Amino acid sequence: MIKDNVKALLAELPEGVRLVAAAKTRSATEILEALEAGVEIIGENYEQDLIRVYDSVKVPVLWHFIGHLQTNKVRQIVDKVDMIETLDSLRLAEEINKRCAAINKVMPVLVEINSAEESAKAGVRPADAENFVGKIAGLKNIAVKGLMTMGPLVAEDDDLRMYFSQTRRVFDKIKLRQIEGVEMKYLSMGMTSSYKLAIGEGANMVRIGTRIFGERNYD
Ligand SMILES: *Cc1c(COP(=O)(O)O)cnc(C)c1O
Repeated sequence: MIKDNVKALLAELPEGVRLVAAAKTRSATEILEALEAGVEIIGENYEQDLIRVYDSVKVPVLWHFIGHLQTNKVRQIVDKVDMIETLDSLRLAEEINKRCAAINKVMPVLVEINSAEESAKAGVRPADAENFVGKIAGLKNIAVKGLMTMGPLVAEDDDLRMYFSQTRRVFDKIKLRQIEGVEMKYLSMGMTSSYKLAIGEGANMVRIGTRIFGERNYD
């Protein structure tokens, strides 16, 4: 089932669009099934989920952190993940930088954009993004590789399209500035219900869970 879902999805994604399998709550067995079908990147939201499955998945894979990251959890994950997609504050950037310096690693990061400017949601506001990237560009042990956004969970397609296209404009604007140490390469937008729309607005990285693994069961 998971295998069929992955194959159908990979066949459907346009060339150049990277698939991140969003694996929160899934077992190592389920993750391995997705990897066997061609998934190359696993996204985890919680440090304890990552640690739970990390040692059981012994095949080559890239791990992306896609959840809200607390500064006190950074130390436990920096040696394991290949990208942090949810950089949302200067304090977090400094902590990642410090912990990566200690292990001689340069961490690729995406800046999370709070595209709908929701007060309860993490992320940098679109208008502050350029300034924020400028501020963290000098940190030697992180490397900015682009932007990520969630968008509101309940939104009409037209609204979602607007948030995605705005994030795309911010992405292009920062790219044009050619900030030293910053490579605007990835625009991570779209989940099961919105990835088609996001790709239409320029996403080249999509984070998909349900369409691969089925409905989540939180019990
Ligand atoms: C769960 C999750 C996804 C995937 O959601 P689905 O609707 O299951 O595809 C994508 N991004 C983030 C940050 C998530 O937490």
